[in-house]
Amino acid sequence: MTARTILHLDMDAFYASVEVRDQPDLRGKPVIVGGHPTRGVVLTCTYEARKFGVRSAMSMVEARQRCPQAIVVPPRGEAYAEASRVVFATMRAVTPLVEGLSLDEAFLDVTASRAMFGDPETIARRLKAQIREATSGLTASVGIASCKFVAKVASDLNKPDGLVVCPVGLEAAFLSPLGIERLWGVGPKTAEVLHRAGLETIGDLQRADFDALARALGARGAHHLSRLAVGDDDRAVDPSHEAKSVGSESTFDRDLVGPDPLREPILRHCEEVARRLRGDHLRARALVLKVKRSDHSLITRRSTSPTPLTEAGELYALAIELLGRIPLERVRTRLVGVSATALEPDHESEGAQQELFAERNERPRALGAVLDAIEERFGRDVIRRAGG
Ligand SMILES: [Mg+2]
Repeated sequence: MTARTILHLDMDAFYASVEVRDQPDLRGKPVIVGGHPTRGVVLTCTYEARKFGVRSAMSMVEARQRCPQAIVVPPRGEAYAEASRVVFATMRAVTPLVEGLSLDEAFLDVTASRAMFGDPETIARRLKAQIREATSGLTASVGIASCKFVAKVASDLNKPDGLVVCPVGLEAAFLSPLGIERLWGVGPKTAEVLHRAGLETIGDLQRADFDALARALGARGAHHLSRLAVGDDDRAVDPSHEAKSVGSESTFDRDLVGPDPLREPILRHCEEVARRLRGDHLRARALVLKVKRSDHSLITRRSTSPTPLTEAGELYALAIELLGRIPLERVRTRLVGVSATALEPDHESEGAQQELFAERNERPRALGAVLDAIEERFGRDVIRRAGG
């Protein structure tokens, strides 16, 4: 079997970069794209805001405490969807094997493109330049590897405007110095279990005793992580991959009591979901309402619709019907969320792109210890910075 060549491309601080591009006065400043000033969350922010500790998904309240001088810009979904369409069209000119993960992130299988377009690094460099040109200046970071997982990790190591190559055959060594949090499936809880077992880096995990790992995580979990830790990930890039859902939710500063106060946030979430469905040319056949009580117990109700849902009003009517099915009298609620599922392309709009999720959490990547460690081990050829 020939080794695959997979690119993971991720636009840098996507929403915020679109805002800075369209309002040049914002350049060089801490900019937050976010929602409601007291209840909303940070969708994304510029790297200048990240220096103050602002992060995606952080509450606006906390973000403004950390960076009071930040300029807060409300999201413009249409502008992001338009930029996304340009980015995806540019990627699809390189290969039809493009699997979108969100508006600004995708895997590309360029194995068959090599004969025509050159080695993977040349392909990636050209793609980055083409995207920058086609979007009037937006930058992307790209990771190149023989599998999805390592490509995704690589794209993340040198943001913004990064280009990181993991040479074929060096996957395990490439991953070794990185923190175990980077492994898919390792959330805060699993990380805590692993830390307690003395495992900090993926290299620690590679050397860990499998049986001990299986006792801590279960056989399946241990098997999954041991494989990922050495870059063993044989999943193909699937261009037909579809968005599972488009959702919006919020946690309240203070618990809300009873069902009535939930109507207003539910309406806002329906508006947000409708905006994103519209921006991405999708419509939904089902709606899920999610309510978390103050004791963290979660209740979900799902309803399907005979007609496709696109409008906030339609979503809201269904959501309120679902709310009526949850016994909430005098119950304290800490979170409410709405998600549209059973998605299908809305063929009435052209150039439909399949997916839209909230911008992923983009941790700032220090070029520090991790990259230096890899560089020290393998030389400069492994890590090539864009333009370098
Ligand atoms: Mg991104």
